[in-house]
Amino acid sequence: MNKEKFINEVEKIGISLTDIQLHQLDEYCKFLLEYNSHTNLTAIKEEQVYLKHFYDSLTFFKAINPSEFETLLDIGTGAGFPGMVLKIVFPNLEVTLLDSNNKKINFLKELTMKLNLTKVNFFHGRAEEFCIKNREKFDIVTARAVSNMTVLTELCLPLTKVGGYFIAMKGSNVDEITEAKNAITKLGGKVERIVEFNLPSEESGRNIVKILKEKTTPKEYPRRYEKIVKSPLK
Ligand code: SAH
Repeated sequence: MNKEKFINEVEKIGISLTDIQLHQLDEYCKFLLEYNSHTNLTAIKEEQVYLKHFYDSLTFFKAINPSEFETLLDIGTGAGFPGMVLKIVFPNLEVTLLDSNNKKINFLKELTMKLNLTKVNFFHGRAEEFCIKNREKFDIVTARAVSNMTVLTELCLPLTKVGGYFIAMKGSNVDEITEAKNAITKLGGKVERIVEFNLPSEESGRNIVKILKEKTTPKEYPRRYEKIVKSPLK
């Protein structure tokens, strides 16, 4: 996807980018490829950054408008997807980028300085650890390509404010979403909508699950990571 096509496709979802934002995305792309040449952050090639990372991150807007909220937490953000892209395009948002891999967090810190961004916080560590001091604190919690829906729900919903949203950016497998329904209810959430679509110029299916945090999450969740993975909530 070249830049013109990118701008076009993004407009179709209702987002018009300013020159400053386009410039920032350009810098982001260059810095990512340069950093990637010595530190392996992501498997992607140049021509795919705009489609697979930037465009895909912005499809978030199909489910929810971030400008209506103040804080967003991106769990397992990797090289900043979708959190950093959303920060650039919705600059008023206070974004927290969390990853257990420190080289990714370091990349994001450098990028934030390069782009002169403010209101960006970082956490190097696991989502379950972060939850100890940050329970039910964020208006929006999101994650893309981190783990299956049941595990993800236990990592993300305890961090979501009551009245806020957990937005899961998933691939085409709807079965794992159905399987997670009980976990979602148990942890205080309710599926409000599932937005299903294909990425343009390839047949790659996507599902964005929009979950409203209706009630507070019982204190015993999240459990320790080994438990979360070994005995997923039924
Ligand atoms: N969201 C990014 C990265 C996906 S790769 C993207 O869509 O491109 C998954 C990332 O999640 C990795 O960087 C890994 O370090 C991180 N991760 C996995 N489980 C985690 C956990 N429990 N807490 C924090 N980070 C986690």
